[in-house]
Amino acid sequence: MSMFDYVVVGAGLSGVVMAERIASQLKKRVLIIERREHVGGNTYDYYNEDGILVSRYGPHIFHTKLKEIWEYLSQFTEWHHYQHKVLGHVDGNLVPIPFNLNSIKILFPKPVAEKLSSKLIDFFGYGNKVHVLELKETKDEDLKFLADFVYDKVFLNFTHKQWGLRPEELDISITGRVPIYISYDDRYFKDEFQGVPKFGYARMIKNMLNHNNIKLMLNTDYREVLTVNHLTKQIKLFGQPFEGKLIYTGKIDELFDFCFGELPYRGLELKFETVNREFYQEAGTIHFPNEYEFTRVSEMKRITGQKSGVTTIIREFPKDCNRNDIPYYPIPQQENIEKFNQYKEKAKNYPNIILTGRLADYKYYDMHASILMALDKFKNLSKGSNL
Ligand code: FAD
Ligand code: UDP
Repeated sequence: MSMFDYVVVGAGLSGVVMAERIASQLKKRVLIIERREHVGGNTYDYYNEDGILVSRYGPHIFHTKLKEIWEYLSQFTEWHHYQHKVLGHVDGNLVPIPFNLNSIKILFPKPVAEKLSSKLIDFFGYGNKVHVLELKETKDEDLKFLADFVYDKVFLNFTHKQWGLRPEELDISITGRVPIYISYDDRYFKDEFQGVPKFGYARMIKNMLNHNNIKLMLNTDYREVLTVNHLTKQIKLFGQPFEGKLIYTGKIDELFDFCFGELPYRGLELKFETVNREFYQEAGTIHFPNEYEFTRVSEMKRITGQKSGVTTIIREFPKDCNRNDIPYYPIPQQENIEKFNQYKEKAKNYPNIILTGRLADYKYYDMHASILMALDKFKNLSKGSNL
């Protein structure tokens, strides 16, 4: 008999939600194994040497339409009720991103701006949104002009820097995350519930893991302590047969020894700088689609609401991602999705392995989606299903 009923690989949000539910609701014992030196996966944050709370892998703003997800996390943290605002540097101006009616007002002479705005409202309706690639297909000359403008000045070069690809070479859902809004609402996310944990994600996650039924092993690749026999499907933990369930939130291709080839990721390099003044820029994040090698600059204090005489900024430089680098973004292109589906099919033959999370599902989940998926998997698990 193992000391544990469940093993969770990965202490990112997905793994932590699973471990927390299993420990608190099923009252079962969980071992959570994490390769990095810290919990939280890509949400991890810490106070830097200047005393500023910074996100190691890039700023994270929590947002969801679902009250139950918000309430679930609220058991473990208080919130700083921040609503994210982003400005984009376009033709020497700083305009709201997602591009909206205010952006039009700033960038075009009044009569042009009024004509474009009223056409957008007539065609799509006030308060609605439209994908830049869809707007490009319109027959109306003025809207076509606007679409080409936004495509060229906001999407083309940013997407090229971020992905090394043109917008139409990526799954439409990626650029669709930032549609054109036919409104004056300058918020980056429109969800009802938004904010950042008052004392950071790492603190919130430590609270989630603070349960007698949960044991955490940091600095450990799961393969150091656990093996999966791909013929018999038997799992061994510390060399002993393990009859419980394995919840796996690492890369799906790694679990199967890359047998169908590697699933690619896009990487990032973050450069931190502390500036000796109270604030650095006018918004939480500023996008630079057309200048510099970095895509954006975020100012942590603008997001966290922390007070200090100095301020830390983060510049994001996209880059290729090798097998041992931190996997930031799955790349949802057809051939990768097909490869992923082969792994997913294979995984169905493993009755004791449950997959969830951004890496195991190879999906561009935001935090709320990672949590929702994990809570769903947990519900199925408590009903005795692996799906
Ligand atoms: P991860 O955070 O990747 O966690 C997986 C964990 O598994 C990692 O800790 C990893 O070390 C561990 N692991 C992997 N392999 C092994 C192994 N072999 N052995 C042991 N451990 C292993 N979402 C939002 O909602 N708002 C945002 O503003 C936002 N900003 C983002 C910015 C960036 C730059 C990125 C990359 C993502 C952002 N996200 C944002 C998405 C968010 O990070 C994810 O939804 C969430 O972190 C996914 O959690 P996860 O547990 O599935 O994956
Ligand atoms: N995008 C862009 N210009 C922008 C903002 C976004 O071209 O000013 C595109 C780009 O391809 C990016 C995608 O839209 O990767 C999704 O943007 P989002 O801000 O959601 O990216 P994330 O925060 O997930 O990195």
